[in-house]
Order: sequence, then C-alpha cells, then structure tokens
Amino acid sequence: MKMNTVIMGGGLSGLVCGIALAKRGQRVTIVATGQSTLLFNGGSMELLGYLDGKAVVSPIEAIASLSEEHPYRKIGADRIALLADQAKTLLDDAGIQMEGTAAANHWRVTPMGVAKPAWLTLKSHVHIDDLKQLPCKRLALMCIKGFFDEPNGMLADGLKDMGFEVDRLEFTTDDITALRRSPSEMRASSLAKRLGSNSALQRIADQINQLAGEAEMVLLPSVLGDEDHIHALQSMVNKPLRLVATLPPSVSGNRMQTLLRHYFQMLGGNYLMGDTVVSATLDGDRVTSVTTAKLGDMPLKADQFILATGSFISRGLVADYERVYEPILGLDVDADADREKWTRFGILEPQAYSRFGVKTDNDLRCLKEGKTIQNLRAIGSVLSGHDAIKMGDGTGVSLLSALAAAQSILAAQS
Ligand SMILES: Cc1cc2nc3c(=O)[nH]c(=O)nc-3n(C[C@H](O)[C@H](O)[C@H](O)COP(=O)(O)OP(=O)(O)OC[C@H]3O[C@@H](n4cnc5c(N)ncnc54)[C@H](O)[C@@H]3O)c2cc1C
Repeated sequence: MKMNTVIMGGGLSGLVCGIALAKRGQRVTIVATGQSTLLFNGGSMELLGYLDGKAVVSPIEAIASLSEEHPYRKIGADRIALLADQAKTLLDDAGIQMEGTAAANHWRVTPMGVAKPAWLTLKSHVHIDDLKQLPCKRLALMCIKGFFDEPNGMLADGLKDMGFEVDRLEFTTDDITALRRSPSEMRASSLAKRLGSNSALQRIADQINQLAGEAEMVLLPSVLGDEDHIHALQSMVNKPLRLVATLPPSVSGNRMQTLLRHYFQMLGGNYLMGDTVVSATLDGDRVTSVTTAKLGDMPLKADQFILATGSFISRGLVADYERVYEPILGLDVDADADREKWTRFGILEPQAYSRFGVKTDNDLRCLKEGKTIQNLRAIGSVLSGHDAIKMGDGTGVSLLSALAAAQSILAAQS
C-alpha cells in the first residue's frame, strides 16, 4: 500500500511528525533502527537555553538574535511561538504532562546537580522558576542504597550551591534489597520495573516519611516509570515529593519514547521497529520510494518523505577520515571541509561537529548537489545550524521542526 508519508527515524522528531500527520488522517509509516536519544533525556525539553554563552531568559524573544541558518529562523519566530504551544498540547495528548512556557525558561536540575535553563519539565520532576526565589529552603534528598545511576554527592553539592539546605538520606526496602543480589539490577530502568506495586510503593513511602524530618520537600531519583505509580507514591508521602533526573538511560526518557510510540500507533500509524532505511530512489527532484534492510525488494512508496535519522550518535550523519556525509541519500551537508576544525581539545569546549547537519531550504526541504528535493524534508537533530550541547536547543528543534514539516505537508495536500 502506498503511504502518504514515510518517516525515516523514530526518535522524538520522527514520532512527533508522525503523530501530527496521523492525527489529520494521513497514512504514515515510521522506520526506526533502534533506540533514540530520548533515552538520555532527564525529563526536560529545551527550546533555547544559551546564547553567546549566557543563559536565555525568554527563548521566543531570543530567536531574533539567532543566525539565519538556525532552524528556528527558517521556520520563523512568530510560527515558533504557535508551534511551541502545539507541541506542549501534543505531548499532553500522548500522556506526557509537562510544565513550562516558551515565553520564559525555568531551571531544571541535572543528575550532576547543575541548574540548566529548560522550556518544559515533567510535572513530576523538580524544577525551579527563579533561582533567586527557591520554592523551599530545606530538601530531603533520598538516596537508594546501592543505586548505580545517581551521583548523589555531586547532586547534593549542586543543590547546596543553589542555596538549598540538603539532608542526604539513604534508604532501602525489602524489594530493593532483593534486587541488590544481582548488582547489575541496581539501575533506574530495573528498579522502575520492580517498584510499581502499591505495597512496594508503600514501603518506600514509609521509609521516606520516617527519615524526611524537617525537610519541606523530598527529592527521589527518577526510578518510577509510570505516572500512576508516581502519583500513588506522592499521595503516600507526607511532604511534597519530586523526582530528580538520573544518569542515562533514563526512565523518564524511555517512558516518553514509549508513550509517543503508543500514541502514534493508536492513531493508526505504522511503526517498523528494528528496521533500517538503506537507500532511496529518486525520480528527478522527487523521492519515489525507500528500501529497508528487512523489507528488501519491497520498497516503501509514498508521496512525501521525512528524514528524522538524528545526528552522529544515531548514525543519521556519519564521519570518516575525509568527510561528513548523510548515509541514505548522500544529501548536501553543512560541515567544515577541514577535518582539523571538526573538534577542539577539551570535553567542555564547544565542538564544531555538533552544528553539522543536512542543508535545507526555508521549508526544511533537503538538497542534493545544490538542487532541492521537493518531497523530502529533514527534521530534528539531523538538521544543520543548531547546537544541542552549546545552545540547549536540541529537543526544541526536534519538536518544532517536526510540527513545521507536518504543517507544510498537510498544507500541500489540502
Ligand atoms: C547524550 C545526549 C543528551 C541529551 N540530553 C538532552 C537533554 O537533557 N535535554 C534536551 O532538551 N535535549 C537533550 N539532548 C538532545 C535531544 O535528545 C535530541 O536533540 C532529540 O531528542 C533528537 O531527536 P531526533 O528524533 O532528531 O533524533 P534521535 O533521537 O537521534 O533519533 C533518530 C532515530 O533515527 C533512527 N535512525 C537512524 N538512521 C536510520 C535509518 N537509516 N533508518 C531508520 N532509522 C534510522 C535512530 O535509530 C533513532 O531511533 C541530548 C542529546 C544527546 C545525544
């Protein structure tokens, strides 16, 4: 069956674009090789965190200062504000309840105890509107005995630097002790699978209530995957309880990925998990079909195609000793020709490669040998001109370019 749209890549950008199209009745197939970078996500989305090294207060206002190559400038600042509202609604419809607004960043707390500007944070997770007006003074930071994914010393120090008084309290329960017999089980994802029953949650709540003392708020590592379990625990604990991000792979990122995929499938979308697009056929300035590793000689045909294959980490872009390239179609790529300039010494230094990506026109249509491919748009972190690490714009670019591309496809269809 011919699809309306085939999406290559099933991370945040591919799924959100697929949802927006399927909601409007399109027949959509997503081909997804494997896990996405949402697994690194600590429970927050960033629209624009930093500009010229300084924290951004209002992402929407700051868009005018971005270079014209940035995806937000291509989409247009006025449109970004509207798309940002739509993105929050779409996430909510998928069951991902977040707080925040594109007009003003708040602060999320990283697992290393650093406050970073964020646009949206899961309602269940700790975030701070104004670092000069903390929501409370004294925190109980609950540490799970033997837990691998949480650098609590650094987290506690970071929270103290923000101005909190922190009681670092260690606890365990029979359920957690049972898991510790196999040390590899002491990861957030394993705990999330085992701690969901009401009785297991009550045992955790009992420990917290016994230990929390004078603290005004309790922080617990994000080891609960299900919103119902989080709410149940919050109702059992006598003080306000918020989750705090753990090191990846994160339970909250995993959960977001799963909820988005389920929502897409519920809308009738076809998600080919564990398959890879290996090539595409072009007829003049249009893609006619893509071939996948598993479907072999049964190519997927569609009117429109979306490239949502991510950056280097997901192999949407590949670097060898001589060049950076896009592996499916050999699209035009924005990347420095001089290999020496790709990286700089020092892990915290801004790296040129993180801005590399495929070139597009202002409607996010891809180019090959300088010519626009009319029915192929790129979205998310495969796009050039932004920098998720230095500018804190990764998830924003993914969400908003996905919605912009879906709008263009739907407008052309009607
Ligand atoms: C380590 C790390 C930490 C991050 N932390 C944060 C954070 O805390 N906050 C934040 O806001 N942002 C963060 N980001 C950025 C954010 O996660 C990404 O910008 C965003 O999720 C990218 O989504 P995407 O869909 O464009 O790409 P990806 O998530 O990379 O997804 C691409 C998908 O395409 C698939 N794929 C690739 N090639 C093919 C192919 N040929 N055929 C089929 N499928 C294919 C991949 O398997 C993958 O599933 C982080 C990114 C990284 C790398």
